[in-house]
Amino acid sequence: MSTGFFKVPVATNEVVKSYAPGSPERAELQDTLKQLQSQVIDIPMVIGGKNVTTGQMANIYPPHNLGHMVAKYHRGGAAQAQQAIDAAMQAKPTWAAMPWEHRVSIFLRAAELLAGPYRATINAATMIGQSKNAFQAEIDAACELIDFFRFNAAFAAELYSEQPISSPGVWNRMEYRPLDGFVFAITPFNFTSICANLCAAPALMGNTVVWKPSDDQIYSAHFLMAMFREAGLPDGVINIVYGDGPEIGKVVFSHPQLAGLHFTGSTAVFKSLWKTIGQNIDQYISYPRIVGETGGKDFIFAHPSAHAKAVATAISRGAFEYQGQKCSAASRVYCPVSLWPTVRQHLVDDLKSMKMGAPDDFSNFINAVINERSFDKLAGFIAQAQADPNVEVVAGGGFDKTKGYFIEPTVLMAKDPKYVTMCTELFGPVLTVYVYEDEKFDEALELVGNTSDYALTGAIFGADRHALAYMANKLQYAAGNFYINDKPTGAVVGQQPFGGSRASGTNDKAGSKANLMRWVSARTIKETLVPPTDYRYPFLG
Ligand code: NAD
Repeated sequence: MSTGFFKVPVATNEVVKSYAPGSPERAELQDTLKQLQSQVIDIPMVIGGKNVTTGQMANIYPPHNLGHMVAKYHRGGAAQAQQAIDAAMQAKPTWAAMPWEHRVSIFLRAAELLAGPYRATINAATMIGQSKNAFQAEIDAACELIDFFRFNAAFAAELYSEQPISSPGVWNRMEYRPLDGFVFAITPFNFTSICANLCAAPALMGNTVVWKPSDDQIYSAHFLMAMFREAGLPDGVINIVYGDGPEIGKVVFSHPQLAGLHFTGSTAVFKSLWKTIGQNIDQYISYPRIVGETGGKDFIFAHPSAHAKAVATAISRGAFEYQGQKCSAASRVYCPVSLWPTVRQHLVDDLKSMKMGAPDDFSNFINAVINERSFDKLAGFIAQAQADPNVEVVAGGGFDKTKGYFIEPTVLMAKDPKYVTMCTELFGPVLTVYVYEDEKFDEALELVGNTSDYALTGAIFGADRHALAYMANKLQYAAGNFYINDKPTGAVVGQQPFGGSRASGTNDKAGSKANLMRWVSARTIKETLVPPTDYRYPFLG
């Protein structure tokens, strides 16, 4: 029972630590990396607060160091999926009935734990398991996730406070009930923060969750579950199951009480899940909410008035940080011929200076791509480009998987603006440039919207304000996150709510009130204070 209208602490973005030489955070992170890499941990599933083991083991190796096992995890299947649903449904009534300020408190506590005692562990786990350098881990696993927890707490309070007006003699109220059932969170490999948030956002609003992470993110997921437990999240609110997506999905998607899907991953998988839900629609007690953020083919478009070095820097950071494995990473560039020689020179110089290797050597800017499937796919596209007379390899082009899945940052220049790597999401450090004649600016701009099915992020560069306004208007539907004179990556919670449309997702903007709205089903209550006692209206007289 709440006995006050509580104000949640004002959310501010977590300050990114520098990890500069000599800083205490660098020393702590290095120690934690050493400690984690000196052991092989056993990772159970967690269902209803209990560790669940199956003995069906799979090994975890860092993508950059394939000879060094760091963990083994227990794989589940249909039985564990069912167990997780049962645990979620069992925990549901008490969790939903918990006063909202206590739910919020748990996640605010999680934010404090992550800002303090868990920061080094979750960052180190992300560096080891997902091959991120210290800075990339810090902005994702620590800062973005802390921001998700703090901002969502404030958004939840804002949402609860939105109430209808009342006419005389009546009190209208709105109750933001959790959904009628459980939520299924299916999460990608590339952002620890997104994975935790896909579970935490529905849970914050009173839902219970079955979580199936990507096989490639289980190592950091394990530490997230420990953090949730320490924050005081009751048993059964978030239940984690590892294993084959389709096998687990078969049980979950045919359950009558599936109330929502919170997904981030590829477009093809999301479309197939949507179809499954559609096919099973008669089996559900309600219409499951479907929220999915999916693939991208993110662009940088330079106008001839753009600053060449700013364009080159945006490409270097926007395309190659975290090996291009951000849904927002720039992967196609449209550059006017008048700027290209300068942009090209800066880009080639930048790429030459980028060191590649394991993230525990802090001088490495580039680390490994996530797994062998991704490596082989990227190597295939690079080899195809190398053999194509209409494509020039401007920089990079090397790949080697003897020690880890290393792909050199690669820039291709394609004569055909619809060359395969201009259209297809590769999800790696491979960027394609199309150089257009300055006088064909309008034709080139047209290409942005009709080259791929996606509309996630995009950036325009220019100094001419008329041109900027024109481009922003023309590209209105080309991206859900649109940047002017900035790289298309690095969205900050509360500042640039994130999500794309078209084939890139349902655009429900993670880390916003709009997203939380998807995890509640409002009940409108009208209470008449003195009800009428005669059915006859005055006009009848
Ligand atoms: P993926 O689609 O391969 O996998 C995502 C998740 O779906 C994993 O947990 C996987 O095991 C699961 N899965 C796959 N098939 C399934 C099935 N049939 N039933 C149930 N679960 C199933 O994606 P990924 O490689 O982990 O992540 C990269 C993709 O995610 C890229 O396309 C990227 O653009 C996208 N992404 C988008 C955003 C965004 O906000 N738009 C953010 C991060 C990543």
